[in-house]
Amino acid sequence: MSRNHELFARAQKTIPGGVNSPVRAFRSVGGTPCFIKRALGPHFWDADGKRYVDYIGSWGPMILGHLDAQVLAAVETALTHGFSFGTPTEAEIEIAEEICKLVPSIEQVRLVCSGTEATMSALRLARGFTKRQRIIKFEGCYHGHADSLLIKAGSGLLSFGQPTSAGVPDTVAQHTTVLEYNNLEQLSETFASIGAEIAAVIVEPIAGNMNLVRGAPTFLQKLRELCTQHGALLIFDEVMSGFRVALGGAQALYNITPDLTCLGKIIGGGMPAAAFGGRREIMAHLAPLGAVYQAGTLAGNPLAVAAGLATLKRLQAPNFYEQLQTQTARLTEGLAQAARAAGLAFSTDHIGGMFGLYFTARPPTCLAEVANCNLEHFNAFFHHMLAAGFYFAPSAYEAGFVSITHDAAVIDATLTAARAAFSALN
Ligand code: PLP
Repeated sequence: MSRNHELFARAQKTIPGGVNSPVRAFRSVGGTPCFIKRALGPHFWDADGKRYVDYIGSWGPMILGHLDAQVLAAVETALTHGFSFGTPTEAEIEIAEEICKLVPSIEQVRLVCSGTEATMSALRLARGFTKRQRIIKFEGCYHGHADSLLIKAGSGLLSFGQPTSAGVPDTVAQHTTVLEYNNLEQLSETFASIGAEIAAVIVEPIAGNMNLVRGAPTFLQKLRELCTQHGALLIFDEVMSGFRVALGGAQALYNITPDLTCLGKIIGGGMPAAAFGGRREIMAHLAPLGAVYQAGTLAGNPLAVAAGLATLKRLQAPNFYEQLQTQTARLTEGLAQAARAAGLAFSTDHIGGMFGLYFTARPPTCLAEVANCNLEHFNAFFHHMLAAGFYFAPSAYEAGFVSITHDAAVIDATLTAARAAFSALN
């Protein structure tokens, strides 16, 4: 029995499903999850000592690869000063200033410990600011596991949402309306009928939780216009896309200014840090200034802030995103070519260091199209690549991530393995 198998059997005795976050369990692809022991650059090693090229990057944060020397040095220094104080620190000001500089729609920012806290707090703030209760989200966008956001679409356009997780009270679900991503007509109809009730619309401008699906520019522009027109706040959830698709996030690429932005993943450099921020006038409603309560014992934790700040500085190196984009394109274009050569219906997309692989002829535009991809092919591809030492996301509903350390040699080795994987599918 491999060490991974042993550990998984042991983990299941004391941890539900053996994992601390469901996607890690390989439920949709089947098989035994890899228990990772250590990582460096584009690689990590499992409990059996097997090396993998890592294309999940801790689900987004590791844009510099693992154990970046400058981030490590910053954390080592912070470590010698103390783990947590529960008081303000100068480093928190520095990271706030850096975030406001890089994402100009953010005039003020509050640090939290997870993306879930960021979106949950942004929603409460939006409700407190607008004095309205309804929120709009889109099918296939994931915003963490707060009650109001674990809601799937109801049967009709204006029907109340239904919980998709047991344990979400109906009374909470009924304040969330779920619409189809990139559906302009449905969006306009919804605002025409209930615009005055809407506190906020929350959206991943580039969705990364139903594989990678781009928001259409016309859809996101219409969203901005409708929110302004009806007095609702537009919340961009850039927990994944922030600093990943461009230095200024998706909002810089689309040139759209949201009222509030949620950040996470990269801003903690692999440590638990996230943030939400936006217009000063809105942020002033937060405690201790305003009546919207929000707090955190470990918020702005010195080690997480040190890792995040060092990461944000590294991202500002000349041509960082050009290089990242070139490396990601080498992967996705190479994969598309290899799949074409094998005669498969397959397509790809990429933006910055984020990519989507679809076992269908064209990149999907909404969840229903993602669901039409060939899952059997995906699962077989996943397992072939895993066996060859290439770790892609263990679900067809997740985006993949390339770091700056995934150089041409690493990507070309991936393509060689993928050619074998694709021909085995036919
Ligand atoms: N928002 C988006 C877009 C995410 O991708 C995620 C996590 O994957 C979250 C929010 C929740 O973040 P966390 O898992 O840190 O709570």
